[in-house]
Amino acid sequence: MSAQDTQVILPGATLGVLGGGQLGRMFAHAAQAMGYFTAVLDQDATSPAGLVSHHHVRTGYEDAQGLAELAQLCAAVTTEFENVPAGSLNKLAERLPVSPAGSAVAIAQDRAAEKAHFVKCGVPCAPYAVIETAEQLAAVNDALLPGILKTARMGYDGKGQIRVKTRDELVAGWNELGQVACVLEKMLPLAHECSVIVARGRDGTIVHLPVQRNLHRDGILAVTEVYEGNLPAAQAEQAVAAAKSVAIGLDYVGVLCVEFFVLENGQLVVNEIAPRPHNSGHYSQNALDMSQFELQVRCMTNLPLVQPRQHSATVMLNLLGDLWFKDGDTAQAPAWDQILALPGAHLHLYGKVDAKRARKMGHLNITAATAEQARATALKAAEILG
Ligand code: ADP
Ligand code: MG
Repeated sequence: MSAQDTQVILPGATLGVLGGGQLGRMFAHAAQAMGYFTAVLDQDATSPAGLVSHHHVRTGYEDAQGLAELAQLCAAVTTEFENVPAGSLNKLAERLPVSPAGSAVAIAQDRAAEKAHFVKCGVPCAPYAVIETAEQLAAVNDALLPGILKTARMGYDGKGQIRVKTRDELVAGWNELGQVACVLEKMLPLAHECSVIVARGRDGTIVHLPVQRNLHRDGILAVTEVYEGNLPAAQAEQAVAAAKSVAIGLDYVGVLCVEFFVLENGQLVVNEIAPRPHNSGHYSQNALDMSQFELQVRCMTNLPLVQPRQHSATVMLNLLGDLWFKDGDTAQAPAWDQILALPGAHLHLYGKVDAKRARKMGHLNITAATAEQARATALKAAEILG
């Protein structure tokens, strides 16, 4: 860490983000609201973040000229996409403050390294085996079946995963995944899933968002509920403590999401981490006095990290492209006017040019004074969405 890394970067400066997806777009909005200029690096001319940023460097993540241009424009850089090559983050870090660090992102990019990190931090994860060779495949312990075979790298939204019940299915699954490096995880009996977002500054200050209770459909986050009592208090406390250990163990700087399983016996098991703001933290935009994106800005600029306060009970509904195709193959947007007639409904759309099935198009944050009201309104919204 250099002296330059600990200097406060004040509004008026330009902040950069690697990746032009919706997370980058909402980061840009938060940074701009605080008076910063923004720069996005993403190849796609119509990327959600590129469309709303002051600067858009249109190159790939490994393009030396693009990275140099970004470094030239910016006072600090962050990332919104976890598969940005760690080498590119390291290269930028030679010229300006980068958070999170390439070393932390590299761990989050590789399920085997990620699990080894959990073990190192003493945070329980699912029993697993690393499978990189046919010998390792043959040596897998039967106790891991039935299990889920996951590619070590590049998986997201349930992609790159195969559920296997028997050894034969395991062998077939590994072949289907192209015999790439994988992790086999024991299939666990989940009662529910939750996640915690922490933000950690360069001076080690760490704050967290309230624990999110998450519902996935087909491996994609569908609903997040955050209110008093969404999880038993002891579970929530344990999840926050575990998330902080994981962040501190990485000497992490920035916003980090830690996903957990809660098993039927109440045991908490860490699933995976995301080195950036996370879909399950979007409710913070409307239900907290500080969003996860503002925290990202504060981390990268060395501004104070203040513990966010929740002021509303909330339910977040993800809006996938499928909602655009309810009545056939021609895309038609849902009835936003009806949705926005509901009390406490906050619509966030990502400006994606084409709606596609399973594509994240936006989310709806529903806020209310009580959990019951938020849930009742969310049910009404779900009925309108169909
Ligand atoms: P992704 O990177 O695609 O989000 P995850 O590892 O989080 O991958 O898996 C996606 C979903 O699949 C999880 O949210 C959970 O619902 C289910 N899942 C994953 N691993 C297990 C497991 N070991 N036991 C039971 N369910 C699992
Ligand atoms: Mg996940």
